[in-house]
Formats: sequence, C-alpha cells, structure tokens
Amino acid sequence: MHELSITRNIVAIVSEHARGRRVRALQLRIGALSGIDVPAVRACYALCVEGTPLDGSRLDVEEVPGAARCRGCAAEIPLSAPLGVCPCERRALLDRTSGDELLIASMEVEDV
Ligand SMILES: [Zn+2]
Repeated sequence: MHELSITRNIVAIVSEHARGRRVRALQLRIGALSGIDVPAVRACYALCVEGTPLDGSRLDVEEVPGAARCRGCAAEIPLSAPLGVCPCERRALLDRTSGDELLIASMEVEDV
C-alpha cells in the first residue's frame, strides 16, 4: 500500500529530526489532489510509530483543497480533479497552484 510507505518514510524523517527526544504531536499538510488517502495514513501511522520516538503522539492532518490558475485569464479557481480547463471563454489550461502537497507542517517535541 502506497500510504504505508509514505507514512513509514514520514515517521523515519521525524524520528531522525527529533534526535532522541519524544515527539508529542505531528502536523501534516496533505493536498486534496495528492492521491493520498488521509484515513489510510492515520491507520498506518498507528502501526508505524510503534517503538519509535513518535509512539503515543498525536497526528493532525490539515487537508489542503485543490486550486489552479488559468493560463488564459489568470483567474484562481478551485480544482476538484487533478487536471482541468478553465470555465472562462478561452477554455485555457490550468496550472495547479495547490492541492498536491505532502508536507510535515510542524512537530512538537518534548523539552529535554
Ligand atoms: Zn480562464
């Protein structure tokens, strides 16, 4: 499963960054068009944190809606599918401006 390897990767990065400190909370930012299933990430997280500095931590996920800019009229419009054309009269192509992100927004570590 794709979410399992993504989550495992995130947990590895955060564990390394925590340098031996316990992680209390982790905030991820996941785009609506990223193809990543948030409930699956949550389920994988519970498994992947076992025995790591993230064990028992809280996972917050901020879902970022899709948005794009039209190459024709420069309008910024919401995007619900990965690709699309602008509803303007030019039917121009859209360049995605958000919605495909996968970011570690912040992490809360225990004070030493
Ligand atoms: Zn347009």
